[in-house]
Amino acid sequence: MYKEIFDNSPVSILIGEVCEINDYKDIIIKEKNKVYIEKCKKDINKKYFIEDLLEVNKDLAREAIEECMTRDISEFMEYITSIGKFCKINFRKLNDNHIVITIKDILKFESNILEQALQNEKAVIFLQHKDGRYIYASSEFINIVNKYNKKKFKNIIGRYDVDILPQHVLNIIREKIDEVFSGNEISVYSKVEFDEFKLNTVINAIREKEEVIGVIFSAIDKNNEDTLSNKRIKKEKELKEICKSIPDFIYFIDRNNKLLYYNKHFLNANESFNEDITKIFGGRKKFDEFLKIQHDINKEIFISKETHTYSFVVMMDKLHYYEVVKVPLLDNNGEVMGICAISHDLTDIYEGQKKIEDIKQEFFSNISHEFRTPLNLILSTIQLLKLKVQGDEIQDKYNKYFNMIEKNGVRLLKCINAVINATDLNTKEIIFNGKVDDIVYKIEDIFDNMIEFAKYEGIDMIFDTDYEEKYIIYDEDKIETIITNLLSNALKYTKNSIKLKLTSKDDFIEIRVKDNGIGIKKEDINKVFEKFKQVSSKKNKGEITNGSGIGLYLVKLYTELHGGTVEIKSKFGAGSEFIIRIPEKIK
Ligand code: ADP
Repeated sequence: MYKEIFDNSPVSILIGEVCEINDYKDIIIKEKNKVYIEKCKKDINKKYFIEDLLEVNKDLAREAIEECMTRDISEFMEYITSIGKFCKINFRKLNDNHIVITIKDILKFESNILEQALQNEKAVIFLQHKDGRYIYASSEFINIVNKYNKKKFKNIIGRYDVDILPQHVLNIIREKIDEVFSGNEISVYSKVEFDEFKLNTVINAIREKEEVIGVIFSAIDKNNEDTLSNKRIKKEKELKEICKSIPDFIYFIDRNNKLLYYNKHFLNANESFNEDITKIFGGRKKFDEFLKIQHDINKEIFISKETHTYSFVVMMDKLHYYEVVKVPLLDNNGEVMGICAISHDLTDIYEGQKKIEDIKQEFFSNISHEFRTPLNLILSTIQLLKLKVQGDEIQDKYNKYFNMIEKNGVRLLKCINAVINATDLNTKEIIFNGKVDDIVYKIEDIFDNMIEFAKYEGIDMIFDTDYEEKYIIYDEDKIETIITNLLSNALKYTKNSIKLKLTSKDDFIEIRVKDNGIGIKKEDINKVFEKFKQVSSKKNKGEITNGSGIGLYLVKLYTELHGGTVEIKSKFGAGSEFIIRIPEKIK
């Protein structure tokens, strides 16, 4: 029955026989109960109590054994590293040479959690039992202790403060700690200064039920704090040095868009821009737009916490292209506390790309011209051949082959011409060659040239104008390209009618070309102005049209060259209306 009580007791119990080793008293462990075996799994086979359990203060245990043998009972406290606990160890004499030992945890302390939390901190921390023994000490506190001791401790757990601290230090620390022990205060914040140490301290009580059984003392040494901030300053300096030598613009802003830091290049650029920064952006309006975009992007970064990249162009000695990368700076809680912006001048890369593009264009232009010459020769030979066989019986036999060669030759020629046009547009400067002339007459003339063809195709063409004549400044060739392209598209895509209307509105000439053909889908309307873009390749009659997709690109380009605009009104399946507005007076 005793054995059962012994085994099932919730506290660790050992029974040992007192012995003497090297003039010291120890206990040979004879029995261990279950709890103890569970707790001390590691070194279960060690025979002697002191050797088995204690690592720190063996003298204390020896004294306790002596005392128990004379007074039947004794008690001491010890931090048992093998189970990571601070324990109260009780000796009770069983007979002249046997002792019952009970071990009770008095304070559970998860030292590794605190150790992890304080990993990189230079904090002075110790936990102390009210009897003066240390339950935990950070390496920084052990360093302080070691300053006052010949013996260099690795650990001071289980040692009394009186044994390891000089009197004057002890007095100062005890005075503060006693304020907590007296029970008046839960936490005491104070300065603890001795010798070269200046500790900013907070002392908290460790309670068991209502009783204060220990304290947690944590402090930062002012000297260390200084060296820490010195280190921080040094790091910042290094970072600034690096930023200084990087040829990009680098700056940091805080949550209120306040500039916290900028590098030398950013400053230099700003100083030179500052004379009139709006100029390089192309005026106040453009600069304000730029600032608004910046502001919106910053706002977005503060919300999304994501990096943003964008670019802008400024006119300095020449056009400069900048790419900006904005990176959110996160604080310890993962919140955006600011933004780091790096802008990089990409002008050289852009110019390099443009050079390659120019070479490509030149190559295309050359090769297209090379294609065109022999093709023209083939076409004129075919036409000659057709003439030669006119009236011959051979004509009836082979005409359809001549026609096929001619038709496809013309088609190929159109394609080559389109490529030449497009490359010319990229390589040659487009010049506005404006003259004052009657635009009504010009448009009507182009219109009339197409009527015959429309009749042949069964298409009704109506010309309607509010004016007999209208003299404005316009570029004749370009207006011809605009009107020809609009009308030939209308002829290509209409069902059976085309209407051209000329009016004037708010100092603008309005040219409306309307058809009742296949129309353009809403989502395609803005795409038709792109170079080489064809949104539908089928005519309403089911034939495939052969275009190049450059016509409307030229319409827009040349209209804008006149300071005008192009608008499309279209209903898919019901027809389209192209509205060109050209100012009557060119500014
Ligand atoms: P394309 O040489 O192919 O006609 P355009 O640039 O003139 O090239 O036109 C681009 C595209 O716009 C055409 O391929 C066609 O899909 C569409 N489009 C142009 N005009 C009309 C129109 N009047 N009706 C319907 N679609 C049109």
